[in-house]
Amino acid sequence: MTEMLGERAVVAGGSLAGMLAARVLAAHFRDVLVLERDTFSTTPIPRRLTPQSHHVHLLLKGGENAIGRLLPGFEAAIEANGSVLIRGGLDVEFASELGLAPRWDAEIDLHSQSRPFLEHTLRQCVLRATPNVELRTGQTVRGLLYAPDSHRITGLEFEAEGGERTRLEADLIVDATGRGEGGLRWLTALGLDVPRVDEVKVDFGYSSATVELAPGERDWKAVACGNLPRAGARGGVLFPIEGGRYVCSLGGRAGDYPPDEQSAFIEFAASLPRTTISDELRKATFVSDVHRMIYPANRFRRYEQLSSLVGRMIPLGDALCSFNPTYGQGMSCAALQAEALATTLESRGADDTLDTLIPRYLECAAEAARLPWRQANFNDFFYPTTEGDRSMFSEEETQFRVHLQVASARDPVVRKLANQMSQLLIPFERLLEPDIKARVAAAQG
Ligand SMILES: Cc1cc2nc3c(=O)[nH]c(=O)nc-3n(C[C@H](O)[C@H](O)[C@H](O)COP(=O)(O)OP(=O)(O)OC[C@H]3O[C@@H](n4cnc5c(N)ncnc54)[C@H](O)[C@@H]3O)c2cc1C
Repeated sequence: MTEMLGERAVVAGGSLAGMLAARVLAAHFRDVLVLERDTFSTTPIPRRLTPQSHHVHLLLKGGENAIGRLLPGFEAAIEANGSVLIRGGLDVEFASELGLAPRWDAEIDLHSQSRPFLEHTLRQCVLRATPNVELRTGQTVRGLLYAPDSHRITGLEFEAEGGERTRLEADLIVDATGRGEGGLRWLTALGLDVPRVDEVKVDFGYSSATVELAPGERDWKAVACGNLPRAGARGGVLFPIEGGRYVCSLGGRAGDYPPDEQSAFIEFAASLPRTTISDELRKATFVSDVHRMIYPANRFRRYEQLSSLVGRMIPLGDALCSFNPTYGQGMSCAALQAEALATTLESRGADDTLDTLIPRYLECAAEAARLPWRQANFNDFFYPTTEGDRSMFSEEETQFRVHLQVASARDPVVRKLANQMSQLLIPFERLLEPDIKARVAAAQG
C-alpha cells in the first residue's frame, strides 16, 4: 500500500458528491470525516435540505459507469433495490411539435430511479465498503481555519444542531456543499481570493410529483415531450422509479413556470405538444404533493484559474459546476469529478505532495465539467430569455453543433455518437474527427 497522503480529510456535505469524494479519499487518508448539516432517514425519502430530491433525476451512462468504477457493486445494488432498466432510444416516447421521434436502439441501458433512492443506496454502499469513512449528520460547516503565516487552510469549524461549535484540523477539505456557494463564502470571510464564477442565467422553473399510473398497456417505459426552443417553450418528462411509481417533472422558463397545484399542474402538462403525459396524469393517483423549484443559473466556479490558490480546499460536484437540470448532467458530472480526484491521487509520484496534486485535480475536475457545461449552455442559448456570454461559442462551432443535430436525425452513426456524447461517455472532440465531420457535412444536403 502506498503511504497515506495525510491523517485526516474532511468532506463538507454528505450527498452524492460528498460520499463519492469520501470514497476516493479513503484510499489516501487514514480517516475521512463527512459532515452533513441534514439528517438522513433510514429509508429513501426526499430531504428538506436537497429540495431537488422531489424532481426527476436521470443518471447518465457516463456518470453511472464512473460510479461503478469507483464503487464496484453499485449497479447491482440499485438493480436489487428496484431500479427500472430503460433501453435508450427504444423505451422512451420522445415528442415535440414536429411529432413523435422515431424509436431507435441507442444500445445503452439506463437505470431509472428516484433521487432519494439513488443517494440513499450510494451512501450505504460507500459506508459499507469503506470503513475509514465516518459520516456525522446534523453538523453544519461554518467556515475554514486559516494560518496566515503559511498562507494555508488548516481545518474547519462546524456547528452541531444544538449550537455547539467544533474546530478541527484537517490535511484536506472538500467542499461538496452543492450549488449554494459554501466554499466561496468561507474564502470571502477570510479575506482570501475567490474563483471567478462564470454564469449563464436560465431562469428555469421545475414542478414535479410522484404518481402511480392507472393500469394499462403502454408501448413506452418513459415519456419526454417539449416545444422546440423559443420564448414560452415548455417541456415535461414522466420516468419510472422503484416501487412501480413514476415521477413527472414539468418545466418552463422566464416566469412561465409550471404550477405547484395538482389540477393546474395537469393543465400545464396538457399544453405540451402531445398529451401522453396529461392523459396519464388525469388517470393517475398522486402519491406526493406537487413541488416546485426555480433554477436561476448555470454556474462554473473557475478554481483551476485562481492564481493565488490557497491549497487544501477543493470543490467537488455542484460546488464546482452546476447546470440546468433539463439535461440531467449534475450527478454524472459529480461522479466524473470524483473519478478525476481518484486518478490524480493515484498518479502520485515520489515528489508529489498535496500542494502539487491539488492544482492537478482542479485542472482535471474542470476538464470533467467542461463538456456538460458547454452542452448545457449551447442548448440554453437557443432560448431568447437566456442571459450569458454567447461568444463562448465561435460561429464555426455553433454551425457545426447545429449541423450535428441535423445529421443526428439522418445518419445513425452520427446519432449514436452524439447520444454517447450527451450521455457523457465520449468527448465532443470525438465528433470533430475527420470521419464524423465528413458524415455531418454529407447529411446537410
Ligand atoms: C430540479 C432539479 C432536477 C435535477 N435533475 C437532475 C437529473 O435529472 N440528473 C442529474 O444528474 N442531476 C440533476 N440535478 C442536479 C443534481 O441534483 C445535482 O447535480 C447533484 O445533487 C449534485 O450533488 P452534490 O452532492 O454536489 O450537491 P447536493 O446534492 O446539493 O448536496 C449538497 C449537500 O451538502 C449539504 N450541505 C450544504 N451546506 C452544508 C454545510 N455548510 N455543512 C454541511 N453540509 C452542508 C446539503 O445538506 C447536501 O446534503 C437536478 C437538480 C435540480 C435542482
